[in-house]
Amino acid sequence: MECPKCKNEMKPNQYKGVDYDQCKACGGLWFDALEAEELVEIKDAAQIDTGDAKVGSKMNKKWEVKCPKCSIPMLPVHDVEQPHIQLESCASCHGTFFDAGEFKDFCKETFMDRVKDRFTKKR
Ligand SMILES: [Zn+2]
Ligand SMILES: [Zn+2]
Repeated sequence: MECPKCKNEMKPNQYKGVDYDQCKACGGLWFDALEAEELVEIKDAAQIDTGDAKVGSKMNKKWEVKCPKCSIPMLPVHDVEQPHIQLESCASCHGTFFDAGEFKDFCKETFMDRVKDRFTKKR
């Protein structure tokens, strides 16, 4: 599969039974529908995000990209809970692209949100 951002090759990988693809050049991560949500639930999944966050933030500016699977334009998505994270999502196959460093951020924030939730419920 070709990286939607830098056109280099994406390498299929797996973490605890969940498949994903990682770009060899920019470190971006591709998840098929719901794979990202599955991974976030797995402890230490953030470690798969081995790319350089500096490269990732540069790549993040490039958002007019096409889905590597369907070749249709992907839509920029801001997570409602974490508006500083901008992802690209495909409306057709629901695949999601995370720039290097974003998935780590996504996992961390989700964890923090859960901690906050628990805290709020206790009160
Ligand atoms: Zn790439
Ligand atoms: Zn697609």
